[in-house]
Amino acid sequence: MSEQTPSHGHEDGHDHDHDHDHDRDHGHEALHGDALARGQAIRAEALEQILIDKGILTATEVDNYIETWNTRIGPMVGARVVARAWVDDDFKARLQADATGAVTEVGVNPGRLERLEVVVNEPGVHHVVCCTLCSCYPWTILGLPPNWYKSPEYRSRIVREPRTVLAEMGLELDDDVRIQVWDSSAEVRYLVVPERPAGTEHLDEDALAQLVTRDSMIGVGRPATP
Ligand code: FE
Repeated sequence: MSEQTPSHGHEDGHDHDHDHDHDRDHGHEALHGDALARGQAIRAEALEQILIDKGILTATEVDNYIETWNTRIGPMVGARVVARAWVDDDFKARLQADATGAVTEVGVNPGRLERLEVVVNEPGVHHVVCCTLCSCYPWTILGLPPNWYKSPEYRSRIVREPRTVLAEMGLELDDDVRIQVWDSSAEVRYLVVPERPAGTEHLDEDALAQLVTRDSMIGVGRPATP
């Protein structure tokens, strides 16, 4: 067993040897998150109104943009990539050889991607993604990164003690599973293809895509089971 981490992972000296009460932490974050979200929503509405008043944007353009983000950019795009990889070994091979090109086969706009690398979980090997420097994330296929992905705690600890961090996030891996941590950058983003859940042999590609969670494509969770 070995745990490989990027050579330039930050060693920021934080010690996290106390036990976290994660329900409490999440509740705490949610409270602050609500106030923050309200403030951001008010500012965004004011900005939208100014841009419309000045004739720089129309309300229709804003609606179309929001519609795009809600329906065509987000984890549902990555889920299509994963589901195709589960049912089509040739596609999976193309993904591993040239992910940026292969994802166009499921309708991803390559112009919006930096270089994409796809890493595939298998028995005994588990991949997980972070950005130690900031918050680089394949947003075209996963949407906006979750807050924890951007937190200094996740970014520093996932490279130093991935097994512990994953367990705290609810993903217990056997000791003989090797964990590979991938450090994203402005140039390279990563997508994890999780293992296809057992008992899904009868499901078609669309049904399989419904099981693929955002967290499973970052490598901090498993897909849902049918
Ligand atoms: Fe980053």
